[in-house]
Amino acid sequence: MLISDLKRACSKCDTSGFQAGYDEWGSIQTNLRKSCPHCSGKGHILTELGENLWNLYRPMLQELIREELQNKSTLQK
Ligand SMILES: [Zn+2]
Repeated sequence: MLISDLKRACSKCDTSGFQAGYDEWGSIQTNLRKSCPHCSGKGHILTELGENLWNLYRPMLQELIREELQNKSTLQK
């Protein structure tokens, strides 16, 4: 399995995560670069497979992180 099976580069922002600044409202925000709405500023989009895996592993990761944090706070006492 390749990482490219799980996510692909955002074609809208070319992985920068930002949408090239253009003057959308004719406001002073012309020079501000906004997060790309297509990938929410991540620059990559999860494929369906990546999405499924992420949903599968996320609870385990959260558990691991929780345990790690607990261990740290126990050591500090
Ligand atoms: Zn994007």
